[in-house]
Amino acid sequence: MPRIRQQNVLAAQWTPNGGAIGTADLTSADNQIFGENVFSPVVQRQRLPKDVYQRLSQTLAKGEALDTSLADAVALAMKEWALEKGATHYTHMFQPLTGLTAEKHDSFFSPTGEGTALASFSGKELIQGEPDASSFPTGGIRATFEARGYTAWDPTSPAFILENPNGALLCIPTAFASWTGEALDHKIPLLRSMDALSKSAMRALQLFGNTSAKRVFTTVGPEQEYFLIDQQYYFERPDLITCGRTLFGAKPAKGHELDDHYFGSIPERILACMLETERELAKLGIPIKTRHNEVAPNQYEVAPIFENSNVGSDHQQLTMQIMQNIARRYGLVCLLHEKPFAGVNGSGKHNNWSMGTDDGENLLEPGDTPHDNLQFLFFCTAVMQAVNKHQGLLRASIASPGQDHRLGANEAPPAIISVFLGAELEKVFGAIERGEAGESTPESFLGLGTPVLPPLPMHGGDRNRTSPFAFTGNKFEFRALGSSMSLSLPNTVLNTIVAEAIDYLSEELEDALGTGKELEEALRPILQRSYAANKRVVFGGDNYAEEWHAEAERRGLLNLRSTPDALPYLISDETVSLFSNYAVLSERELHARYDVFAEQYATKVNIEAETAATIARTMLVPAAARYLGELLAAQLPELASETKELIDQLVDALRALESANLAENHEHENILAEAKYMHDVVLPAMAAVREVADKLEKVVADDLWPLPKYSEMLFIK
Ligand code: ADP
Ligand code: MG
Repeated sequence: MPRIRQQNVLAAQWTPNGGAIGTADLTSADNQIFGENVFSPVVQRQRLPKDVYQRLSQTLAKGEALDTSLADAVALAMKEWALEKGATHYTHMFQPLTGLTAEKHDSFFSPTGEGTALASFSGKELIQGEPDASSFPTGGIRATFEARGYTAWDPTSPAFILENPNGALLCIPTAFASWTGEALDHKIPLLRSMDALSKSAMRALQLFGNTSAKRVFTTVGPEQEYFLIDQQYYFERPDLITCGRTLFGAKPAKGHELDDHYFGSIPERILACMLETERELAKLGIPIKTRHNEVAPNQYEVAPIFENSNVGSDHQQLTMQIMQNIARRYGLVCLLHEKPFAGVNGSGKHNNWSMGTDDGENLLEPGDTPHDNLQFLFFCTAVMQAVNKHQGLLRASIASPGQDHRLGANEAPPAIISVFLGAELEKVFGAIERGEAGESTPESFLGLGTPVLPPLPMHGGDRNRTSPFAFTGNKFEFRALGSSMSLSLPNTVLNTIVAEAIDYLSEELEDALGTGKELEEALRPILQRSYAANKRVVFGGDNYAEEWHAEAERRGLLNLRSTPDALPYLISDETVSLFSNYAVLSERELHARYDVFAEQYATKVNIEAETAATIARTMLVPAAARYLGELLAAQLPELASETKELIDQLVDALRALESANLAENHEHENILAEAKYMHDVVLPAMAAVREVADKLEKVVADDLWPLPKYSEMLFIK
């Protein structure tokens, strides 16, 4: 058997129970593992002195700053709990602008001077860490000589224990800031945006006569798509190891054309891996709810029950980490790249988003009474207005090199941001716009005639899978996130733009109510105006269709196809004034993000180009040359000249790529110009190399081709 086929046989073998989880009897009370490794409110109540627990939970409920005198008591309880769970170290976990999670471990133990060590962990150590920040991207906020960065405990996201076969670690979710107090991470702006939205929504709720809510939380429920492939192929592919995606690979004879994978039965090895992953996630208090096969072969999806945006985002980071760790126990690798395989559906993340009060009312849930419906329509209108005004910013918040391969292809929503309302709701807004809503006609849905909204379908037929931003019954689903992305930035943007729109509409409503009008009478013209002004962003048709792209252009909607096109919207005048009005990100903090993202874009494409060139030169050209030798030796001149021609083309394309990617050919002063150069010149040069290489893959003897093929990576389970 040739080398690669032989290995396929090995790849297909696996041992069940990677982590030896066996079958747990989940009906037994002892086996209730959910939240087992979380310093949850329940654990806090058991372990903290009563008054400390009460003060802590009151502070958290009101979203107020923490009284430092509480910290020592909390730290003591946390340490004891963690030591009992076998933890020897603790870490402040944070989310630098790389979009990844960062951690530095410190031991609980300090020497006593008598040859022994004592476990200690003070309130000060809990509240603040001081990691060297100089190696994290800061976009110029902090010069390298001021290396100090601070991590500050986020008491609203519970601490937890991460287990490793050889020990355990207490993880404390934290924010990360410079010594001047500027956010160097994704958590601080998210928390600020949640506060901003809460204030705006509370102001609006007052106008609707709600006196019981104390705070409004934004909620997030992410649906995560991913691939699982055999680790052997992963390790044989330098492109997957270095870039997370395949830079070469001819399309297999069988792709997803047969539609036989989506919702198909889950292969046993994969399911075993999923079960163990979900078990680990359950211990960490992450409420996984659904799992299924996705469209592409070897592609899957997992989704938790929604949580508040901050905890949900932390949990999502952790979910990605655990998925990757556990996969290895089954001889698999979990790929989170947006487009690991060209020509095969990529992976995204659906960001289900809503707002809810602390007493459990979902503000995007249509109600049973006319009053509830008015309130629902008000908040729904605010979302539409926000999305229309800040399309560019929303697009920028989900921009990355991986996303550029997905958005706009016929598999993910296009780069044009539009809102899907569903036929029923679109009819309701149509009636409001025409001023018919108050009349008692069969078509009217508001006012006297028909006192309630028609039931809006939450599931089933009235779904538009092509829409980037769809209303789905009681939430909006921002469907255009990339699968490897942190949720924090897109949610920071969503919260802030909606806060602004709510304030805008509230002010109009306050004025109208001030003239003595009844709520409905006051509200109707406001909704009418806002819908008329923003309805260009509403679209219920097929977002993949060419006609929509032309129509969107006529409507004046943005179509930002690439990351370099989108990033400038992070620092536009509208964005700067939005974020500074709501104290979510200062102009400096915004510019820092813009710089970091543009630089990351350029660097990532640069790494891809270098990897592609190296693979072509050191693996593909030699393989093809060897094959050419065999053809010549076998006196097969026609096949030989065909192969020779392809090799010549490959070498030409390779040289062009190497020169395009040479540092001296692309040193631009301006980081956006550099990103554009990578997009406009280097990416096409890579594509040209790939095109010839993929032809060669189909020509060169199978046993000589050095890279595992798509048919192997995608179909061997
Ligand atoms: P589908 O694949 O049909 O879109 P799923 O059931 O896979 O639906 O996922 C729906 C996601 O929406 C889940 O993560 C769920 O928790 C989340 N979700 C439901 N209600 C809300 C809400 N009010 N706020 C945020 N997310 C929500
Ligand atoms: Mg969905």
